[in-house]
Amino acid sequence: MIVVMSVGATEQEANDVRDMVKSFGLSPHDNYGTQRVVIAVLGDVGPQRDHLMSKLNLMPGVESVTPISRPYKLTSRESHPEDTVIELRGTKIGDGSLTIMAGPCAIEDRDMMLLTAKTVAAAGATILRGGAFKPRTSPYAFQGLGIEGLDYLAEAGKETGLPTITEVMEPSQVDVVAKHSDILQVGTRNMQNYSLLTAVGKAGKPVMLKRGYGATIEEWLMAAEYIISAGQPNVILCERGIRTFETYTRNTLDLTAVPLLHHLTHLPVVVDPSHATGKRWLVRPMAMAAVAAGADGIMVEVHPRPDEAKSDGEQSLTFDQFADMASALRKIHEEVRTLIKDPFAMAGPVRLGGASKH
Ligand code: PEP
Ligand code: MN
Repeated sequence: MIVVMSVGATEQEANDVRDMVKSFGLSPHDNYGTQRVVIAVLGDVGPQRDHLMSKLNLMPGVESVTPISRPYKLTSRESHPEDTVIELRGTKIGDGSLTIMAGPCAIEDRDMMLLTAKTVAAAGATILRGGAFKPRTSPYAFQGLGIEGLDYLAEAGKETGLPTITEVMEPSQVDVVAKHSDILQVGTRNMQNYSLLTAVGKAGKPVMLKRGYGATIEEWLMAAEYIISAGQPNVILCERGIRTFETYTRNTLDLTAVPLLHHLTHLPVVVDPSHATGKRWLVRPMAMAAVAAGADGIMVEVHPRPDEAKSDGEQSLTFDQFADMASALRKIHEEVRTLIKDPFAMAGPVRLGGASKH
């Protein structure tokens, strides 16, 4: 449930509410980014719910008490109606602008990282990506440069002025990755690695959570809930394709996720058409579709010589292809930014349940 304090409520009144919540064995969690104090009540309230609600409703300084129907409490729009906007070194994510994350799948050496960084920055990238710890399907494939790669990424970020993002695969790497990168990425294979989610949530840096390739939207949002409840409110969700029976593409891009997530949660939504399609020539059209669907940004892989890449060359764009795509995306974004609406806001008081069955 969510307790909204009135604008003039005192800190003492808010504290009394927190104490009341705790006396029921539950945890109060203050919401960020709101004008007034909004306290989310976390934990399993069970049959005591009505009793607690009526007690809270009578307390001085309390404006309203509303139950949250979703299992992901802090992640849901019910608890946090305004969009989360993440600010990083002068760049904003989720404020209606277009975020373009670009860079190599894996950082292979210093020169290629710096060259790629300068090129994508000049073509309009707003965040620099580069993998240093690589989750590879084969134990014999290139596993990334590790800490040496993180150094090159940080240098390229400084050189271009772009904030950086890179994947962290296990709790023991969180500190070193957080020292080197502005955003921590949790990859598809680790979406439900709960000890990793808790560790990144405590690291003090924004986190981009990629969708598990077999995860439902609700499982994904519950994973985001782990990060937020561990202390990190700035979470970006990245749709990167899910596994279906289709084999022409590496995964199946679920673009429905974009408006659906904007309805269900306040978190920014980014789409990765590189891992979703696995094919370079499909990246541009799917990136365009993602922006048209209202995505807050895209993430793509770019390489100076994709055919020689140590990982994911088939889906990496050349420099020219990236520049061409970025300019197309900006045009689409300019066109659609005022047109995007929550479809449910238009449909009236419809509640979102499971998919209808025919
Ligand atoms: C990546 O972005 O480097 C990556 C490995 O992506 P995913 O986790 O979506 O496969
Ligand atoms: Mn990759």
